[in-house]
This record gives sequence, C-alpha cells and structure tokens, in this order.
Amino acid sequence: MMGSEEKSPVVIRLRGIGKSYYIGKEEVPVLTHIDLDIHKGEFVSIMGPSGAGKSTLMNILGCLDRPTRGSYELDGHEVANLSDSELAYTRNRKIGFVFQSFNLLPRLSTLDNVILPMIYGNLYKNERKERATKMLESVGLGDRIHHMPAEMSGGQRQRVAIARALINNPAIIMADEPTGNLDSKSTREVMEIFSRLYQEGKTIILVTHEIDVAGYASRHVILSDGHISKDIRGPLP
Ligand code: ADP
Ligand code: MG
Repeated sequence: MMGSEEKSPVVIRLRGIGKSYYIGKEEVPVLTHIDLDIHKGEFVSIMGPSGAGKSTLMNILGCLDRPTRGSYELDGHEVANLSDSELAYTRNRKIGFVFQSFNLLPRLSTLDNVILPMIYGNLYKNERKERATKMLESVGLGDRIHHMPAEMSGGQRQRVAIARALINNPAIIMADEPTGNLDSKSTREVMEIFSRLYQEGKTIILVTHEIDVAGYASRHVILSDGHISKDIRGPLP
C-alpha cells in the first residue's frame, strides 16, 4: 500500500558512499558519507542547495558514475563488482532517466525518440512503433507523434522524454531537476505523470530544489555538506 513502502524490499542500498573529484592532485570531496536505503515503490525527493552534490549522487545511483568509496547494492548486486558493460546493461534494463534539458535527439521525431531505446530489445518494427505510440498517448501526446522536438513546448518535450524513459518498463525512474526549465503549468503536468507512476508502483527518485515539486514525493532526503542531513517520510513540514 502506498505510504507504507518501508516494508517493501530494498532496491537501492548505499553504505559509506563517498565521491571526490581531483583537480590535479588535490582531492575535492563532494559526497563524504552517504548511507541510504530506498525501498521498492518509494517516491523520494532529493533536495539541497546548489552544489550540495545532488547530481553527483544521482549519477552514482543511476550507474552513470562510480563512487570513490563505499558500497552500492542495486537489487542486491554490488555495483562495484560489475564491469562497465554489465553496468550499462543493468542501467538500460532497470532505470529510466529524465533530465532537466530533456536530451531528445533533435533530428528524430517524437515517435523515433521514444522508439530508440527499444533497439536493444527483440520486438519487431511494427510492435516497437505501436508500443511507443501507446506510451506517447499515455503522456497526452498522441496527437504529436510526428512532430520534431523543436516544434514542441518544453513541457511537451519533457513528456516525450518521460515516455522514452518508460518505454523499456524500468522499475526505477530517476529524474534530475525535470521541471527546472518548465513553467508552472507544464511542471504540474509533468509532476502528475510522476504521481501516476508512483501509484502504479514505480520507484521514483527525483532531484529538485523546488519545494512544491518535492511535495509530490512521499519521502524527502536533504543533502548538505556531502551527507544526508534530513530524511523525512511523509509530507514536508
Ligand atoms: P548539485 O547538483 O547539488 O547542484 P553537483 O553534484 O552538480 O551539485 O556538484 C557538487 C559539487 O561537485 C560542486 O561543487 C561541483 O562544482 C563539483 N563537481 C561536479 N562535477 C564535477 C567534476 N566533473 N569535476 C570537478 N568537480 C565537480
Ligand atoms: Mg544538479
């Protein structure tokens, strides 16, 4: 049941995660010590001031980057033990990404952007097209499938990006400031999609610095100085 996801299995388990960048030989610590369990079906916001390390943490969670130290278990598998190709495979299978700047391919239509992640699968061309069309309908873009990204508003582009993130049916959705470039109406439309995905049982991790946007989540993790300073279940105070 929603709101009681703490009883669900842990899908993401971080212990003593640290991440430093090196400028020459000088170590610049960004994440100092992160312990975090995320349960299946949770909707977690990650908040904190600019430069707090939110994107750095998200890139580690999304297997786009490796930590400097500590343990990250994704679905019970230690990520540090995976080769780069195993990591890429895991990422493609389990995680859907949504970025602030949409990251659509500008020369591909809406439909082809959503079809693209299915090229690794084993569906026939007409099945891929049908599935992508249905996914676009589910985010309210059934009448925009032949448009190019440049012909759409920011909110529409972000909904295409969400459809693309969902097309391989990942269990986990990760979004880094997905409403950062959107007006308030588009923000609401995008967040209502995330709410629906939460109700459908997806695990969602959302980085934002907007309190209204974080309000859609069921749990709120606050980052400061490279560690978690607050972890609030339920509504924000
Ligand atoms: P946030 O997303 O919370 O704004 P980031 O994770 O992007 O923060 O960045 C945290 C800190 O790490 C910042 O001080 C940033 O300058 C630094 N940083 C991020 N990426 C790199 C990098 N590739 N090399 C060096 N420093 C970086
Ligand atoms: Mg960031």
